[in-house]
Amino acid sequence: MTDVDILIAGGGLNGPVLALALAGAGLRVAVVDPRPADARAGDNFDGRAYALAVASQRLFKALGLWAGLAGDSQPIRQVKASQGHPGDGAAPFFLHFDSAEIEEGPVGYMLEDRFLYRALLAAMGDRVQHLSGVSVVDQRIAAGGVEAVLSDGRPLRARLLVGADGRGSGVAARAGIRRRGWDYGQTALVAAIAHERPHHGIAQQYFMETGPLAILPLPGNRSSVVWSETHDNARAIAALPDEAFLDVLRPRFGDYLGEISLAGARFTYPLSLSLADRYVADRVALVGDAAHGVHPIAGQGLNLGLRDVAALAEILVDAARRGEDIGSDLVLDRYQGWRRFDATSLALGMDGVNRLFASSNPVLTVARGIGMGVVSAVPALRRGFMRQAAGLSVDPMPRLLTGQPL
Ligand SMILES: Cc1cc2nc3c(=O)[nH]c(=O)nc-3n(C[C@H](O)[C@H](O)[C@H](O)COP(=O)(O)OP(=O)(O)OC[C@H]3O[C@@H](n4cnc5c(N)ncnc54)[C@H](O)[C@@H]3O)c2cc1C
Repeated sequence: MTDVDILIAGGGLNGPVLALALAGAGLRVAVVDPRPADARAGDNFDGRAYALAVASQRLFKALGLWAGLAGDSQPIRQVKASQGHPGDGAAPFFLHFDSAEIEEGPVGYMLEDRFLYRALLAAMGDRVQHLSGVSVVDQRIAAGGVEAVLSDGRPLRARLLVGADGRGSGVAARAGIRRRGWDYGQTALVAAIAHERPHHGIAQQYFMETGPLAILPLPGNRSSVVWSETHDNARAIAALPDEAFLDVLRPRFGDYLGEISLAGARFTYPLSLSLADRYVADRVALVGDAAHGVHPIAGQGLNLGLRDVAALAEILVDAARRGEDIGSDLVLDRYQGWRRFDATSLALGMDGVNRLFASSNPVLTVARGIGMGVVSAVPALRRGFMRQAAGLSVDPMPRLLTGQPL
């Protein structure tokens, strides 16, 4: 006897999306999160805006959420990257992706956390048992399932416990899953910026030695800035009053969008890599940052998590339809086999890009310049990179990421 089929620890983003996919296919799901449900829904809770890959957008379509999100999203039509100092304008080796070169439309969509989270919260409604204000504090294997203990002392039995509880995953630690990783020595300064001129859906990424600066288009004449600096620089810049902050940002941002001002609160996120050794254990599976917390350099963290969600939901729903035990090793091993290689290689790839561009070694400087020049000059390579960024080269592709229901 279980209270639910699947208990999800973590009501951030990946947890609710997984819950909606599973509940939509008729499974009984509970989501537990220590944060009061309405706290994250506030306008000033989280400054992040996500670059959603086309595949992630298709997943939201399949879950019936995209129609409500589209109006608040901004299509990304072009991506431009250069190294050096953004105030200098286009650097010699300039990388330029234009979505007009692929048939799938925009490379992705920018969407602010507040809109995405609110939509998930509303959609969970009565379909998912959402327990907010409590956390999972213990877990043990019970006959035919797993029993979790909540911080208010309540036990909750399920056939499977999913850890969607972020980089410090307690579910993983209690299941004996070890983590590896390191601090990047960088903190991301994040803010929404208003500007005089339109961005035309162009995302800019400047690679600087102290860390990358991304200027990502939001609806209207606004952009989201993700500006990575060494911890010390970031601490000093974050402590500045708004006008002084803008004075430091201006020469880095450049003047291609005219005069800039702040369009919301400022946030900081210390950056680290955190990879779980395994994605599954007895009656446990990990998704999202609980499995792999990555550098935001290419805006792929949530997209990677949504690939986990799509794969795990498909495996669990298909297994349930065949009458299999959804928490069995046999079923969970399918999930790990599908996801672990893709996620680890992407995480380490982004780590490599960050190191490559953060280095002032003259040999590496020439090598990365040549590399960017080659990619930019060869149409087939450009299209390959764009499909990768759009999340369209996952093989095999989970059904939800193609927009099909489970
Ligand atoms: C600056 C920055 C910019 C980014 N930009 C992008 C981007 O453009 N595109 C992109 O794809 N990704 C981006 N990312 C990555 C993205 O933000 C993360 O990958 C994503 O938010 C992870 O979601 P999650 O649900 O896995 O984890 P989290 O959002 O960390 O949620 C974990 C949840 O678990 C809860 N929890 C913790 N402990 C317990 C417990 N014991 N019991 C129950 N619940 C618990 C927490 O309260 C929290 O709500 C960015 C990240 C950063 C830092």
